[in-house]
Amino acid sequence: MVGTNWLDYEEMRRFTVNAKGVETLRMKQSRFVRMVALLISFADSRGYEMSFGPAFTSQGHVEGSLHFLRLAIDLNVFREGKYMKVHGDYNDLGDFWESIGGIWGGRWGDDNHFSLGYMGRR
Ligand SMILES: [Zn+2]
Repeated sequence: MVGTNWLDYEEMRRFTVNAKGVETLRMKQSRFVRMVALLISFADSRGYEMSFGPAFTSQGHVEGSLHFLRLAIDLNVFREGKYMKVHGDYNDLGDFWESIGGIWGGRWGDDNHFSLGYMGRR
């Protein structure tokens, strides 16, 4: 990745496969981290404040959760100092996340959940 512009999603994507053209789980986890950086940058540029909720964890989520595979994060987002808890408040963040290949929990009512799908899991 040295010398690449990691904020360019398409460029980032090209470098996340091994010599066999396969993106391993480990590589996917690193791509996810970069995607989260893009999401944070996007949200910050639009005036949102954030705090981290769970990213990797071994408990407290539904069976099969991508939090257990380091492929999901819950971001607490604030607008004008107030925590955004109304369904719909996260729409532009969710749209951005999906535009870079992520899966957004807002599609099933878990607005602050951002993940990268893996083997059918979200
Ligand atoms: Zn979550």
